[in-house]
Amino acid sequence: MIQPQRIKILNRTPPCPKGRYVLYWMQASQRSQWNHALDFAICQANQLELPLVTFFGLTPRFPAGNARHYRFMLEGLQEVERSLKKRRIRFIVGKTSPEFGVEALSKHAAMVVTDRGYLNIQRFWRQWAAENCQCRVVQVESDAIVPIETASTKEEYSAATLRRKINAKLQDFLVPCHQQEVRHNSLSLELPSVNRLDLHNLETLLRALDIDRQIPPSPLFKGGSAAALQRLLHFLDNHIDHYPDTRNDPNRDSVSHLSPYLHFGQISPLHIALETKKRGSPGEGAFLEELIVRRELGMNFVFYNRDYDSFACLPEWAQKTLKRHQQDPRTAVYSPFQLERAQTHDPYWNAAQLEMVHTGKMHGYMRMYWGKKILEWVKTPEVAFSYALYLNNKYELDGRDPSSFTGVAWCFGKHDRPWAERAIFGKVRYMNARGLERKFSIGEYVSRVNSYA
Ligand SMILES: Cc1cc2nc3c(=O)[nH]c(=O)nc-3n(C[C@H](O)[C@H](O)[C@H](O)COP(=O)(O)OP(=O)(O)OC[C@H]3O[C@@H](n4cnc5c(N)ncnc54)[C@H](O)[C@@H]3O)c2cc1C
Repeated sequence: MIQPQRIKILNRTPPCPKGRYVLYWMQASQRSQWNHALDFAICQANQLELPLVTFFGLTPRFPAGNARHYRFMLEGLQEVERSLKKRRIRFIVGKTSPEFGVEALSKHAAMVVTDRGYLNIQRFWRQWAAENCQCRVVQVESDAIVPIETASTKEEYSAATLRRKINAKLQDFLVPCHQQEVRHNSLSLELPSVNRLDLHNLETLLRALDIDRQIPPSPLFKGGSAAALQRLLHFLDNHIDHYPDTRNDPNRDSVSHLSPYLHFGQISPLHIALETKKRGSPGEGAFLEELIVRRELGMNFVFYNRDYDSFACLPEWAQKTLKRHQQDPRTAVYSPFQLERAQTHDPYWNAAQLEMVHTGKMHGYMRMYWGKKILEWVKTPEVAFSYALYLNNKYELDGRDPSSFTGVAWCFGKHDRPWAERAIFGKVRYMNARGLERKFSIGEYVSRVNSYA
């Protein structure tokens, strides 16, 4: 049973009785298993005695997307195609902005079912599709454990305020998602044209896309649900027990590395949480705090704060204090060019930047230091905010995620409280290199990252 709180009808149009299929518009949940939206679509198709078609609209224009992101995503979509084919479900990827592809395919559909995205562009796409499709459009939320509006009806002040609300509802939503199977084969169905892409040859496909190709693929991360599951099992077998003690040490490599897969919807957070709970590890609480409370705080933030990608998203106290200290002298001021090329006086910061540039994933603890230093070394806090977001979203495989906007905003005071006042930062929390030296061997981290270059 799919919890009704996950389901939202997006328009008033009834299902179309002449429809030849039910259309599942896959967008945020790029996986064939543990996907409530896909399961809901299968149930609807079976009830209407129709086949199910799954569509993904690939736009080369997704903000800040580049070859690194597209390759990772396409590796995942290749796997989706194989897996759906085995289940007799047609999967088509069209080279089109998704909402237009959905509209074209909806002309012969009884109903459109889609998953949920929280960023402005994802919300715009769904709204446009709901207004322009000539059949019912239903959204099913599958990438949050507790649906966002069920967890809270407003923007939360901090993790502490959301934690209470989420924990009160968690047991209703920590329940497995039962995979459904179609009754009618759609593999040879005739479909309207949507500028279909052939996923078989990834290199040819990537060459044909008009995208920024300067950023090389990550040497460490291969996209797809199988790779995600492998990472999860490796983490649960080897690292979760000591996660609370070692997660902030980048030399221990004891984190899950699941964020790129979560970002592309290649693994379900619910699946991760239930698999984790099966182990009964002493590290479970700390890990689920990050996976559920912290991650869903980011979704709460971008959903309720439409300014999430600018300085204006910050609480009033943080904006005021940073502005008041804007003219404070800085020991160094760097241009975006210098930051991007890791040309600062600080070898620790340079290493963090290079880790992100070379691997597509900076360690979580270093991300905090990295963001705080950008605030310290750029002329104004507004510009510092935009540089941090630009670099994060360009190089991180998990960039452009609700957690990206939240992580950057946190460095500037979001979801935090005022601290003792000091230069440049005002009352925003400060971090320094001595903190890194105290916590772990930063020299070891720097040498390891330098060996990638
Ligand atoms: C400046 C800055 C930028 C960040 N940019 C991103 C980003 O672009 N994309 C992104 O997914 N996260 C971002 N984060 C949050 C966090 O650093 C990453 O989610 C984490 O490092 C991902 O690594 P992991 O999957 O190995 O984490 P693990 O420690 O294994 O945690 C498991 C999961 O919990 C969630 N999680 C963990 N820490 C956080 C956190 N602080 N906030 C929200 N969710 C969390 C993630 O989904 C993560 O995959 C950023 C944080 C900061 C301070």
